[in-house]
Amino acid sequence: MSFRIPAAALLAVSLATPAAARDPVSPARQRATVAKLVSFGTRHSLSTTDDPKRGIGAARDWVAGEFARLSRDCGGCIATERLARRFVGPRAPDGVVIEDVLGIQRGSDPDRYVIVGAHIDSRVTDVMNATSDAPGANDDASGVALVLEAARLLHRERFRASIVYVAFSGEEQGLWGATLLAETARARGWQVDAMLNNDIVGNSLGQNGVVNDRYVRVFSEGIRSSESLAEAIERRGIGGEDDGPSRALAKAIGDIAVTTPGGFGVFLDRRPDRFGRGGDHEPFLRQGYPAVRFSVAAENWDRQHQDVRTENGRVFADTIEGMDFDYLAKVTAINVATIARLAAAPAAPATATIAGALSYDTKVSWAPVPAAARYKVYWRRADASAWQQSREVTGTMLSVADVPVDDHLFGVAAIGSDGAESLVTFAGREKR
Ligand SMILES: [Zn+2]
Repeated sequence: MSFRIPAAALLAVSLATPAAARDPVSPARQRATVAKLVSFGTRHSLSTTDDPKRGIGAARDWVAGEFARLSRDCGGCIATERLARRFVGPRAPDGVVIEDVLGIQRGSDPDRYVIVGAHIDSRVTDVMNATSDAPGANDDASGVALVLEAARLLHRERFRASIVYVAFSGEEQGLWGATLLAETARARGWQVDAMLNNDIVGNSLGQNGVVNDRYVRVFSEGIRSSESLAEAIERRGIGGEDDGPSRALAKAIGDIAVTTPGGFGVFLDRRPDRFGRGGDHEPFLRQGYPAVRFSVAAENWDRQHQDVRTENGRVFADTIEGMDFDYLAKVTAINVATIARLAAAPAAPATATIAGALSYDTKVSWAPVPAAARYKVYWRRADASAWQQSREVTGTMLSVADVPVDDHLFGVAAIGSDGAESLVTFAGREKR
């Protein structure tokens, strides 16, 4: 089995933040959100922005209104912000103002962020067609419904990291909205601990006619696409191809899934995205931020990027009828648990190193994290992909006896006083 199921992992080491008081995800509310987004006719990035009922402008206004409504309910806990920039490219030769709608839930730590996003824009067969109905129910109203449901379930809670709920525009024209937010985050000096991109997360019937509602795919890069030449040379010497920050995030999601009520399996897809394709997490990877893409187990291309039509009895349309809202609710629950854990946790250690050549013992050291109550040192044999052993310690050093550095990989996570655990920082060689 290449995906993880709850029954197989009752002994999983990482626990999601307890969520006793949190409401469950509502498939009915998510269906209503998708229906509302579909009602704008088209949400193409080049569609009208001044019609109150049709086009991407009206859809963005509606999402902003949802953030504002939640915020009124909690004394202003969510700040709504719109980012806008003009983009020009082959898919918008005359240029277009791309706008992202953000709901920002402030945390107590300055400058730490967890981002959950999806794209609000939709398209039909011709990517330049901005007027035909483009329902985009699954691609990607499903993701926007997930983002809004996450905000609804988490907005009354208090976290260390700020949470950014975002609806991107311009995905289909060139990942422009995600580029805008990733570059804005860098310019503002945000430390982005995790970016969760949800794109096509609400169907279970595949193009092959087979239903797969057992797991969701989580795509991640193993080696940071942003690594420098010096870092690449270092990694070639010590390994770590399966331990970049985004892969660590994907592995944490796998652990969280097995302890999430209503959760289901996570297929850890060891690629940045589907073969030869891309998504809104990529601009974040370029900035060096940990980022993954959630997408359904079973894609159905008759229901993506299609003019709405029926040919010889075969339906082509990304409409609500092609969706599975119980499935979407499960993907949402994993996102919510991941956001809650990482936003509650201290930051991951900025660096971790190992030493111990010509010895049977390994010395692990790491940079202190201000808010950490303790740390968890993980290790595994160098022929395994999942952590096998761990030890919790205070302080910033641990000597592990009889675990030779040559044959094992190590990492360190920070744990807060409430038990919430950060991502694992892979331990490399001390800088000389
Ligand atoms: Zn999409």
